Amino acid sequence: MLNGSAIQTVKQLKIRKRDTLMELNRENLILALPMLVVFAGLEALFLVLIRKQTYNWRESLASIGVALGEQIIRLTASTMVAAFAYGVWQYRLLTLSMQHALYWPLLFILVEFSYYWFHRFSHTCRWFWATHAVHHSPRHFYLSGAYRLGWTGPLTGGFLFFTPLFLLGFNPASVVAVIGLNLLYQYWLHTELIGRLGWFDRVFNSPANHRVHHAADAIYLDKNFGGVLMVFDHLFGTYKAEDNNSPITQYGLIPTVGSYNPVKIAFHEWAGIADELKAKPGVKARFWILFGKP
Ligand SMILES: [Zn+2]
Ligand SMILES: [Zn+2]
Repeated sequence: MLNGSAIQTVKQLKIRKRDTLMELNRENLILALPMLVVFAGLEALFLVLIRKQTYNWRESLASIGVALGEQIIRLTASTMVAAFAYGVWQYRLLTLSMQHALYWPLLFILVEFSYYWFHRFSHTCRWFWATHAVHHSPRHFYLSGAYRLGWTGPLTGGFLFFTPLFLLGFNPASVVAVIGLNLLYQYWLHTELIGRLGWFDRVFNSPANHRVHHAADAIYLDKNFGGVLMVFDHLFGTYKAEDNNSPITQYGLIPTVGSYNPVKIAFHEWAGIADELKAKPGVKARFWILFGKP
């Protein structure tokens, strides 16, 4: 039996862990956004001044607006997600202490595996696509689009894909840290300035692989779902290399969002779903509108 002070200590420990998770999210907000703006700005200047190309500044500003909104929502929702994660973690099968150096590469691979399926379902189930479509909405492949992420992730439960890791025994703060690094890695993928990289493209996610992922051309649809690695794409048959014989002709959604308003971008797909739900009566039809293929 725990006495009063022991219960107090356990409570404090839990609060401290939740704070760590909040802290990680806060650091993400402080570090990631300025980096996004600086490098995206340098890319824009390079394209305009050196390459003499046109640049869609409004689209990039819209991306930064969406990214800012997403960070604020993520911070707000992190208490709820942390409470859920630590609640689940209480029922873990093992206690995997991250002092053990080997658990970090193991966690990295498991996060990558979970991310692969999370991302694949984000393209094949409309419930998750409604959030993820926001990331695919830019019509240009700029660095500024890297963190144009949907606002409704905490609501749709994308974090459920990572729940088995908590049950296995990885503490939520470590899992969140590794997911954060995974997303940070993906920043440099969003550019046309880096060409194909040979063997690197076959093993790791790269700008060429991610261009394929964002391409709207039929031969490139639903390919390259990995975060850092292409291993699971090779394994599950979704890998596609950028093909010189089939140059990418368009990025983004068909039809396009047609707005630079971050709020409209964030809720564009949900608005489409709402219209379809209104138009089609019947539980079965509505179920497939929500959970079928986008
Ligand atoms: Zn995607
Ligand atoms: Zn992307």
